[in-house]
Amino acid sequence: MSATPELGPDTPVQYLKGVGPRRARPLAKLGVLTVGDLVRHLPREHQDRRELITIRDLRPETHATVRGRVAASRTRRVGGRRHPRSVVTVTLDDGTGLLVAEFWQQRWRGDQLAVGTDAFLSGRVTWEHGARMSSPEVEVVDEDAEDDPVGASRIVPIHPLTQGLHPAQVRRFVARALEAVVDQLEDPIPAPLREARELLPLADALRQIHFPDDDDALAAARHRLEYEELFLLQLGLALRRRRHREELKPHRIEIDARLDRRIRARFPFTLTGAQERCVSEIAADLAAPTPMNRLLQGDVGAGKTVVAGYAMLAAVARRLQAALLAPTEILAVQHHATFARFLAGSQVRIATLSGSARSKKRRETLAAVAAGDVDIVVGTHAIIQQDVRFASLGLVIVDEQHKFGVLQRAALRSKGLAPDMLVMSATPIPRTLTMTLFGDLDVSVLDELPPGRQPIDTVLCEETDRPQAYDWVRREIRRGRRAYHVAPLVEENDELPLKAAVQLADELREGPFAGIPVGLLHGRMKGPDKELAMEAFRDGATPVLVCTSVVEVGVDVSEATVLIVEHAERFGLAQLHQLRGRIGRGRDRSRMILFHDAKTRDARARLDALAGTTDGFKIAEADLRIRGPGEFLGTRQSGVPELRVASLLGDPALLLAAREDAFALAERDPDLSDEGAVAATALRQFLSRRPG
Ligand code: ADP
Ligand code: MG
Repeated sequence: MSATPELGPDTPVQYLKGVGPRRARPLAKLGVLTVGDLVRHLPREHQDRRELITIRDLRPETHATVRGRVAASRTRRVGGRRHPRSVVTVTLDDGTGLLVAEFWQQRWRGDQLAVGTDAFLSGRVTWEHGARMSSPEVEVVDEDAEDDPVGASRIVPIHPLTQGLHPAQVRRFVARALEAVVDQLEDPIPAPLREARELLPLADALRQIHFPDDDDALAAARHRLEYEELFLLQLGLALRRRRHREELKPHRIEIDARLDRRIRARFPFTLTGAQERCVSEIAADLAAPTPMNRLLQGDVGAGKTVVAGYAMLAAVARRLQAALLAPTEILAVQHHATFARFLAGSQVRIATLSGSARSKKRRETLAAVAAGDVDIVVGTHAIIQQDVRFASLGLVIVDEQHKFGVLQRAALRSKGLAPDMLVMSATPIPRTLTMTLFGDLDVSVLDELPPGRQPIDTVLCEETDRPQAYDWVRREIRRGRRAYHVAPLVEENDELPLKAAVQLADELREGPFAGIPVGLLHGRMKGPDKELAMEAFRDGATPVLVCTSVVEVGVDVSEATVLIVEHAERFGLAQLHQLRGRIGRGRDRSRMILFHDAKTRDARARLDALAGTTDGFKIAEADLRIRGPGEFLGTRQSGVPELRVASLLGDPALLLAAREDAFALAERDPDLSDEGAVAATALRQFLSRRPG
C-alpha cells in the first residue's frame, strides 16, 4: 500500500507535493482550490525558450530571450521635480556579453534584480552602444529549481500569478498536477463529436496547452479547449430553448382574418414587406401551444414599434394583458402616446408604470393591473419589480433589448403564466454574437426601412466650421424642422453631463440661437419635466433641444432633421449610430453634424467609419472590433458566463460548429443521461461561472 494518499482532481491543492498550506493560500486567490483547478489554470502566454540565444548573438529589432546574471543595477530619478520618474537600469551578463535593460516607473525591479540574480529577460532588442531592452519580461530563476525541466529549452508557459508565487514554482506545480490527475479527468465532449471534429482528447489538450511540443501542438490544444467552451455555452442555450419549447402556455392567441383586419385598421400606414414577414412569424408563434421566444432585430427607424403593436392588440383582443418594457422613461412615455394614438376611440385601456410615478398613482395603477382593469402596461424596469402583479399577462415585449439582461428577461417571464415574449433590438449584432447572446431565441429581422426615407448626411466638423453649422440649423428651423444638440459625454460622473448640457443650452440661447426657443433634456430631470421638454420639442415650441445621450434610444420625432453632437470622439460608434437614428425619420433630408477633437487614429477611424456608412451591421462590427464584446453589449449584464479560452468574436466557424453539435446533442439526449452524460458536470460548472 502506498503511503501517499491517491491524488484526484478534487483533492485540495495543498496536498500536491511542494504546495502545502503556505502556497495554497496565494493559489486560492487565483481560483485554484483543487489539483484539478491547477490543471485548468491555463497559461496566459508562452515563451519560446527552445533556442536561448547568447547575448553576443543578439541582433537589433528582433525578439529574444536571454539568461544571465545581474552584473550591475542602478535606480535613478529623472525628469526633475516637476515630472519625477524612476528608472531602473540593469546590466545582465551571460558570459558572452552584456545586455542593458531599462525599466521605467518600476522601482521594485531594483530589488527583484539585485546584483547576482540569475534571470531570464525577454523582449525586443534595440541597439545603443550595445544590446538593450526596454521593460523586458523578467523571470528570476528559482534557486531550488536549478535544472528546472519545465522552464528551459522549450516553449514555456507563463501562468497568471499573484503575490507569493513564483513563475517557475507554478510551472512545477502544474506539471505535477498534470502527471497526477490529467488522465482521471472526464472529457466533457462526447467521443463521437470529438472524433468527427478531429479534436484532441482532453488530457492531451491540457498537457499541450501547458507544455507544448511545438507550435502546432499548442494551436491544436487551444482549438480543442476553445471548442469545448463554446460547446458548453451553446449546450446551455440549446437546453434552455428546449425547456421553453416543452412549456405549455394556458392561452393561445389566434388571429383570424377578421381580427387581422381590425388590427391593421388601427395603423396610419400600410406595413412594409419586412414588417409583414415579421408579423406573420410572430402570429404563428402566438397561435402555437408553446410560448413565443423571439428576437425582433431591425436597424434604427425600421419600424419595430408597429410590429410590437400588432402583437399586443392581438393579445388584448383575446382578453390577455400585454406589457411593453422600455429602457428609458422618455421612451415609455412615447410608446404610451403612440399606442394611445393607434387606439383612439377604442375600449383598450393603457397605463404607464415608471420609477418616478407618484406613489399614490402608482398604487392605483398597480391595483388596476392586478385586477385586470388595464390591458396594456407600458413602463420602464419598474414593471419587473416585485410588487407588480398582473391579472392575466399573456404577452411581454422588451424594447431595445440590448439594455436588458437575460436575468431581467427571466424576471418578467415569471410574472405571467408562460407569457409569449418578444424582445426587440436596434443594435445590429453580428450573427455569431446573436447566436450567443440571444442563442435561445428565434429571430425575425426587419431589413427594410419604411418608404420615402432619405439618406442622412454625416459631416465631421472642426471648431472653425461652427458658424456654418449654426447657419444650417437656423435654416432648418425656419423651414419648420427641429434640431437635437447633444452635449458632450462626460464619463463616470453623474453631475458633469448635466452641467455640460445646461451650459451648452445657455450659450446657445445667448449666442447663435438668440430668438429661437431652446429646450433642455437630461437624465436627471424629473419625469414630468422630461415629458414637458419632449412635448415642447415634438410640437415645435422649442425647435432646438439640447440633451444628453438620454435621447439615444427610440425617440421618434419625424420633423427632426439636424443632430449636432459635441465631442463626438467620446461616444461609442454604436451609440452614435443610435443617435443618428433620431433623425431621418420623416421625408426630409437630414444631416448629422459631428464636432470632434479626435486626436488618436482610432478615434478618427471610428468617426470616418460612421460617416462612411449608414449600415448598422457594418458599424456594429467596426465597433465590436474596437471595443470588444464586453463593453459593446455589456455582456456582464447579459448573463453570458465568462469565457476563459474562447472569444465570442474569435472564430465564427468554430462557434458555428460548436453550436450545431450542441443543438443536435440537445435533441438526441435532452436529459444528458446518455451520450451527453459526460458533459453534465462540466456544463453545471460552466453555467455557474460569473458573467465575464
Ligand atoms: P424603430 O424600429 O427604430 O423602433 P419606429 O417603430 O419608431 O422605429 O418607427 C420609426 C418611424 O417610422 C415612426 O415614425 C413610424 O411611425 C414610422 N413607420 C413605421 N412603419 C411604417 C410604415 N410601414 N410606413 C410608414 N411609416 C412607418
Ligand atoms: Mg424603437
